[in-house]
Amino acid sequence: AMAGAAGRFYGIGSTTSEPGYFIAQPVYARSPGTGANAGGGAEQAPLGVMAVKISLDEFEQNWRSSPDPIALADRSGVIFLSNRAAWKYHSLAPLGAAVEQELAGTQQYLGRRITPVVDGQRVAGNAVDGVDGNAVRTVGRLGWRLQLFAPHTRIARAANLSVLAAALLLAIAGLGVVALQQRARRLADAHTSRQALRQAARELDDTIARRTRELRDANVTLEQKYRTLEQTEQVLRSTQNELVQAGKLAMLGQMAAGVTHELNQPLAAIRAFADNAQTFLARGQSASAGENLAHISAASARMGAIIGQLKGFARKSDAALVSVDLAQSIQASAFLLQGEFRRLGVELTIASAVPLRVIGNAGRIEQVLINLLRNALDAVGEPDAGAAPGSTPQVRVTLMQSDANAVIVIHDSGPGLELLAVDHLFEPFFTTKPSGQGLGLGLAISSSIVQAMDGSLEARNHPDGGAEFSVWLPLAAAAAAAATSRSTTTSAIAAKSCAASDGAPAT
Ligand code: ADP
Repeated sequence: AMAGAAGRFYGIGSTTSEPGYFIAQPVYARSPGTGANAGGGAEQAPLGVMAVKISLDEFEQNWRSSPDPIALADRSGVIFLSNRAAWKYHSLAPLGAAVEQELAGTQQYLGRRITPVVDGQRVAGNAVDGVDGNAVRTVGRLGWRLQLFAPHTRIARAANLSVLAAALLLAIAGLGVVALQQRARRLADAHTSRQALRQAARELDDTIARRTRELRDANVTLEQKYRTLEQTEQVLRSTQNELVQAGKLAMLGQMAAGVTHELNQPLAAIRAFADNAQTFLARGQSASAGENLAHISAASARMGAIIGQLKGFARKSDAALVSVDLAQSIQASAFLLQGEFRRLGVELTIASAVPLRVIGNAGRIEQVLINLLRNALDAVGEPDAGAAPGSTPQVRVTLMQSDANAVIVIHDSGPGLELLAVDHLFEPFFTTKPSGQGLGLGLAISSSIVQAMDGSLEARNHPDGGAEFSVWLPLAAAAAAAATSRSTTTSAIAAKSCAASDGAPAT
C-alpha cells in the first residue's frame, strides 16, 4: 500500500495473535482546489496506509458440519483455514527452504514451524491417509487453494450413486421417451382410427344413399312393370274371355244341326196335333181335341226347354262363382246333345251316384262337358270307330269322388287318341279332324277353364279301348250356403278365373 497500490495479506496478527485477512490502501493528501485526491502515487507519497482486517473464522465455522476435510491453503501450500484443527498451519507438502525463509521474513504465521499434514506424529490418528485433495479450486487474489478431501470409497459411492442416479434418470428419461413415443403412437393410431372410422362412416352413408336411390329406382321400375303386367293381364283375361265365348259360339254352330232337328220334331208334332184338333173340333169331338191340345202343350214345353238351355248356354255373362251341382251340369249338357246322340245312334250312359258340388261357374263347366261329349260323339261316329261290328257305339259319363276332388270321366268306344296327338291335345289349333270340321280350340279352351277353377283336364287311352277324358275339380268344402262364406277361397278362385261369360247354371 505504501508503494501506492492496494495491499492484501493473510497472517496472524503479531499483537493479537489472531489470524485475519488484511486489505490495505494508501492514503494521500487532498490537492487544494481540485477537490480530488492528489493521486498518482508516483508523484506524491502516501500519507499513510489504511488497513482492514477481516476474520475468516466464520468460514471455518460453516465447514464444521462437513464430514469431509476442507482446507484453504495459501500460495505456498500452508493450510490456514480448515475444519480439521490439526491441519491448521501445516502444509500439504514439505515446504522448500526458500519458502521457509520467506515465511520467517514475513512472520506470516508468527514464526511457527510449518510441517506437512501427513508428516507422521503431528497428525497421527487423523483420517489423512488415503486422502487426496480431490476437489481443488483457486480462490481470491493471493493464489489460495480451497480443497475438499473426500474418501475414495465415498467418492466412488457418490460416483456410483451418481452413475446409478444418472442411469436411473436415463432409464426414467428413456421410459419417459418410450412412454411419450407410445403415447404419440397411440394418439397417432387413435387419430388414424378416427379418420378411418370417419371415412368408413362417410362411405357407409354414401353406400346407403346409393342403395336407397337404386332401391327407389328399382321400386319405380317395378311399379311400372307391375302396372304393365296388370294391363297385360287384363288384356289377356279379356282375350281369353273372348276366346272362350268364341269357342262356345263355335260349339253352338256345331250343335245347330242337332238342335234344329230337336226343335223340328216337336214342331212337326205340334202342327199335326193342331190340324187334328181342328178336325176333332169340327166333328164335335172335343175330348179328343183336348187331348191333342195337351200334346201340343207338352211338345211346346219341350221346345221351350231346349231353347232355354241354348239361351242359357249362349248368353255371355259375368263369371259369378257359385256352388255347382255337377250331376245337374252333366244332365244339362247331355240334354243339349241328346238329339245328336239319337241321330247318330250312340248310346249315352250317365252314372252319377253321389251329388257332388264344386265352386265355379256352371255355364263354363257345361261348356267343357259339351265339348268333351261332342268330341266323343265325333270319335264314335267315325267310319273306322273301334266299336265291334254290330255293337252300339257307346259314350259313358261317370261322376265320382277322389279324395277332395270331384272327377267326371267321359269314356267313349271310339278308336282312341292317336299316339302322335297325345302330347299336343291341349295346344290351341291342334286338330286331326278334316278342314272345316275342327278348329282345334275345344280342348285348349276346356283345359284353361278347368285350370282357372284350380282343376285339371287329363286324357288317356282306356285299356279296354277308346279315349278317356277326366275333369278334376276341387270339391266345395261344404254345401252351397257354407261355400259362399268362404270368401277367401272364392276370391282366390275369382282372381285366377278367366272371368266373364255364361250365366245362370243350366237346369
Ligand atoms: P277339334 O275338336 O276342333 O279338333 P279339340 O281341341 O276339341 O279340337 O280336339 C283336338 C283333337 O283331340 C281332335 O282333333 C282329336 O284328334 C283329339 N280328340 C279329342 N277328343 C277325342 C276323342 N274322344 N277320341 C279321339 N280323339 C280325340
